[in-house]
Amino acid sequence: MQKIDPEAYRKRLERMSAIFSEMVEHADEQSLTRCPYKDRHDRCTALFGCRHRRPSEEGLPHCVSDDKLDYRSAWESAPAEAVDKMRDRLKKGRKNEQ
Ligand code: SF4
Repeated sequence: MQKIDPEAYRKRLERMSAIFSEMVEHADEQSLTRCPYKDRHDRCTALFGCRHRRPSEEGLPHCVSDDKLDYRSAWESAPAEAVDKMRDRLKKGRKNEQ
């Protein structure tokens, strides 16, 4: 059985670690602007309507987004507050109906 050269093994681990680090950094950066429903072929996998969606004759629709969307502002940062606001709006709406 062939022996493992510890130095060569260490170098390979370092190389793999560097490759994965670059991939993670790129994914982190891209996740801030690229729609999570867009696949690697720029096809839309979402099950809802979107203005960036274009019909396709082969399978999934095309996504024509420029990937410059900033989804961070769309994410709910205070869900409990949002629920309270919606309850207030609904209560006010019911009072106006009566
Ligand atoms: S069409 Fe809209 S929902 Fe679909 S991948 Fe593009 S941006 Fe996302």
